[in-house]
Amino acid sequence: MAELTHYINGQRVSGNSGRFGDVFNPATGEVQARVPLASKEELDIAVEIAAEAQPAWGAVNPQRRARVMMKFVDLLHRDMDKLAEVLSSEHGKTFPDAKGDVQRGLEVAEYCIGAPQMLKGEFTDSAGPGIDMYSMKQPLGVCGGITPFNFPAMIPMWMFTPAIVCGNAFILKPSERDPSVPILLAELMEEAGLPKGILQVVNGDKVSVDAMLTNPTIQSVGFVGSTPIAEYIYGTGCANGKRVQCFGGAKNHMIVMPDADMDLAADALVGSGYGAAGERCMAISVAVPVGEETADRLIEKLVPRVEKLKVGPYTAGDDIDFGPVVTSAAKQNILSLVQSGIDQGAELVVDGRDFSLQGYEDGFFVGAHLFDRVTPEMDIYKKEIFGPVLSTVRAGSYEEAIGLAMNHEYGNGTAIFTRDGDTARDFANRINIGMVGVNVPIPVPLAYHTFGGWKKSVFGDLNQHGPDAFKFYTRTKTVTSRWPSGIKEGGEFNFKAMD
Ligand code: NAD
Repeated sequence: MAELTHYINGQRVSGNSGRFGDVFNPATGEVQARVPLASKEELDIAVEIAAEAQPAWGAVNPQRRARVMMKFVDLLHRDMDKLAEVLSSEHGKTFPDAKGDVQRGLEVAEYCIGAPQMLKGEFTDSAGPGIDMYSMKQPLGVCGGITPFNFPAMIPMWMFTPAIVCGNAFILKPSERDPSVPILLAELMEEAGLPKGILQVVNGDKVSVDAMLTNPTIQSVGFVGSTPIAEYIYGTGCANGKRVQCFGGAKNHMIVMPDADMDLAADALVGSGYGAAGERCMAISVAVPVGEETADRLIEKLVPRVEKLKVGPYTAGDDIDFGPVVTSAAKQNILSLVQSGIDQGAELVVDGRDFSLQGYEDGFFVGAHLFDRVTPEMDIYKKEIFGPVLSTVRAGSYEEAIGLAMNHEYGNGTAIFTRDGDTARDFANRINIGMVGVNVPIPVPLAYHTFGGWKKSVFGDLNQHGPDAFKFYTRTKTVTSRWPSGIKEGGEFNFKAMD
């Protein structure tokens, strides 16, 4: 069985904690590798190496740092298929989805090529007689990031590309479920010209996360994952004096108005609800048709589409709609939530519980499920399922529909499908959710905008990527300088000249 490594100071390094985690092939259920789970000491060594390497990197001019990103983008294109293959084998998502995972991270790296412009700072000439004032954006030093299993290429790149182009060193603690791609990314960054020690990957679990949160050299921590862990990391990181941004779970509603194009809405729900087996924080997991007639029409369109979805391993070709979920525990959790939906009175109109695939009986496959007549008290409505399960909540009016989304504890993404501009505008303005789609089901902002939810989907002030990333990964220093030409004879300022 393959034994994976950390990536420390420019090389793959075996773990020495004696603790390991299993990495599965979700399609077969087999353990395909074991990943070392770092000790506090291993994390601390990586931080020391990073702290030694960072000042020289921080002093490299931004244009040269940006050139590393340019080259990195080229290398990602070169190795796209290889990265996607490794990613699919550990995560289970389809090959096109895996390429999309790499592509969306690559776009953040592309955005980072604009670093010289983003890091320019501000200058005020003659703020007073002989006085100039300027602000610089300086790197923080050593930054850390903790990432989830569901986008093992994109989310690490959301963090480390802006951190590094701003002149920081970065320690990544990726998900222990699919840890191979982050190591390949670190190697590509060095092939692109990044000095050793600036990007290191320390594999692990809570032990290495806690070590990161308490190491005094680490200046900032970024986290993406489930809400309970986001809350814990935000609280602990802030208490330890770090700059912290944490992104949590989601329950994304899509409102379907009576005037919506029902085919478009149904296609959108199927793509966004079941794509990547529902393991996306921007997946739509709740459909909210407005009015009984709209609901009937929508369900009628959805049922045959959901029944037709092809579930299989990524090796079966590009016409597979989604693959297995990530672990057996994830599968059991999804199936028990489905059972709770049935027990609590929801109507299961497409039942995927008996799904099985010949030759892959031990894989973590879950068939597509569609619920109708879900109510807000049910667990399947309140909890994030993170599986191929779409719940339909019938709303009597637009106000009731928008109220549902507004009252849910999560606020990551949402969408409305309508032909009416007034309704769409009202929805976009009033909704208390961070990312909104109008006739767009998964409104993921592009790299040059920022990504982030509201409410329990986020802890911290700044979003991922876009201009916010340059704020998160730098701190501002403002210099006021006075030169003799502004000083009158006798050494006094001519303050009158300022009036
Ligand atoms: P997770 O919270 O289980 O794990 C995320 C990271 O935290 C991993 O690196 C893991 O090793 C670490 N971790 C787990 N338990 C920990 C603990 N007790 N203490 C310290 N660290 C711990 O999340 P996941 O299952 O990998 O990912 C799925 C979740 O991520 C979903 O809730 C999804 O909505 C969310 N997510 C959110 C966004 C967003 O931008 N809001 C994006 C992607 C995924």
